[in-house]
Amino acid sequence: MQSSKLYSRRALMAASFAPFVACSVPKSILVHEHILVDFAGAEVVSRSRYVQDEVVAAAKPKLEAIAKLGCVRLIECTPNYLGRDPKLLARLAESCGIEIWTNTGLYAANQYRHLPAYARTETALELAKRWTAEWRNGIEGTKPRFIKIGVNNGPLAELDRKMVEAAAITSLETGLTIASHTGRNAAPEQVEILQKLKLPLNKFVWVHAQNEKDHQVHAAVARAGAWVEFDGIGPRTLDWHKDCVEFMAKEGLLGRVLISQDTGWWHVGDPGGGQFNGYDFIYRNFLPQIPQKWWNQLLWENPRRAFGN
Ligand SMILES: [Zn+2]
Repeated sequence: MQSSKLYSRRALMAASFAPFVACSVPKSILVHEHILVDFAGAEVVSRSRYVQDEVVAAAKPKLEAIAKLGCVRLIECTPNYLGRDPKLLARLAESCGIEIWTNTGLYAANQYRHLPAYARTETALELAKRWTAEWRNGIEGTKPRFIKIGVNNGPLAELDRKMVEAAAITSLETGLTIASHTGRNAAPEQVEILQKLKLPLNKFVWVHAQNEKDHQVHAAVARAGAWVEFDGIGPRTLDWHKDCVEFMAKEGLLGRVLISQDTGWWHVGDPGGGQFNGYDFIYRNFLPQIPQKWWNQLLWENPRRAFGN
């Protein structure tokens, strides 16, 4: 009886100390999160579908919580036509003291329902000109800091390949890194396309690499020089994500790994924005599961090498 009491008190202490242990990353960057997403489709999305003040009220405490844990930058991966809103992000960044980066590009995944009509008719070069113009002129006062695209499962259709080519042209012109939401079996094919277009592969991030269950593919893409991003870290996937990171470390490939949660967000169309998850799970629950000497590399050095300072 007594020993179990002791045990539970100790467990309680460990639990209450866990966040403080996790706090000791001096500065960190979350490379793949969302503040707001609207899955309604390119024809339907509109800022009139939500009230900015309500989104700010919901997002602000979540951002303040990670600012306290050392997060200085959140890379917001919501593409154009899925609710990208640089003014909302700028307002939150200002009030929470965290940089929030937005993106240029288009999302062909989810069977093209988030593509505007012009994406089907224009060439890769024409799309790249649009994206480069956004980088040059800014989007509503904010410069996009990376290129976000999305592709469906491999083998890639022509429209998917066009997104990758447009992203490569834009990256060569602007120096921005490409983060590609990647369907099943589509990472190696994207790598091939980029190699043909002579894009240095350190400008390519394989988003959602955790969906690939064969670690050898992770290793091959990393060895080719691209970034392998295990995002989606959460309570249900903790062990698998840990396994992915440990495998890469064992192979000497931790220098090509990014981690994040792909969480948040205000769900446009759901009452009250639906369930808005916080961004602190990675600090409180994931970091304590991996060696402390990896923390700075995974949440500070690698994000800066991948996306810039
Ligand atoms: Zn995402």
